[in-house]
Amino acid sequence: MGDILTRGVSKAGHIMATACRTTDLVNEARNRHGLWPAASAALGRTLSAAAMMASQLKYENSRLEIQIDGGGPLGKIIADARPNGDVRGYVENPHVHAGLKDGGGIAVGPAVGNDGMLRVFKDMGMKEPFVGTVDLRTGEIGEDLTYYFAISEQIPSAVGLGVLVDTDNSILSAGGWIVQMMPEATEEEICAVEENVRKMPHISALLREGKTPLEIIRMIVPDYVEMETMPLQWKCTCSRERSEGVLRSLRMKELKEILEEDKQCDMHCDFCGETYHFSEEELQKIYNDRLKEIAGKLAEHDTGMEDR
Ligand SMILES: [Zn+2]
Repeated sequence: MGDILTRGVSKAGHIMATACRTTDLVNEARNRHGLWPAASAALGRTLSAAAMMASQLKYENSRLEIQIDGGGPLGKIIADARPNGDVRGYVENPHVHAGLKDGGGIAVGPAVGNDGMLRVFKDMGMKEPFVGTVDLRTGEIGEDLTYYFAISEQIPSAVGLGVLVDTDNSILSAGGWIVQMMPEATEEEICAVEENVRKMPHISALLREGKTPLEIIRMIVPDYVEMETMPLQWKCTCSRERSEGVLRSLRMKELKEILEEDKQCDMHCDFCGETYHFSEEELQKIYNDRLKEIAGKLAEHDTGMEDR
């Protein structure tokens, strides 16, 4: 059972609803970043939310990023997703111990903190990205996103997010749902959704029982009409070629310093935890290539030394 997302509307079109299963994604994040349970829970909730919010963007090359900085021990949490289902993210401090809540379950709020901001970036191919920021309310992420939708996008919403962590720290289940009221929604329709949300068991428990995102969203919106179901996958945009490109864009002085002092270079990607190693020989080749480029330019223009 891979990770999937389903997106749709109520039969009358007045309620938009999305649900997802992200168990594999959160396990991948946990393995890549060595997450402890509180970090798995907080990042996992944020990854699920980013995947669902990105699925609503219309242009293929759009990108959505959620940044949460609550001043708690986890530090910053970043999740980034695309409409095609690519998701990635990280948390600043992956090794954080958190207590359990009264009824069991990880105390996510205190680990995230509630003295800070939740920010959403939407790059929709326009000149300027959309940026919406709200103060954190509880650090539980689901409640903070509900507040974000109300304040920043003026859309009455309900959000459920969950991650269930096993005793060996692996992820048993993870996912979420977002239900949003369109302006046409009637009082009756809103009341029915509120009542169903109140009765909803925790999403991670439902997924653990084997319920699909479609079955889960129908518990809130019984006349749900599915518009799209698609796979979700962990995918980072970093690569060895991109890292090499960064090295090639350095000033000659900086390249020379790395060559002489470190004699090697490790380029680390925060998002996926990947490290790209460049040996002394590889750095020397980049340096020589750059020298040749500059010599070529000088011969062409004969305009004196470049400051590179
Ligand atoms: Zn990466």
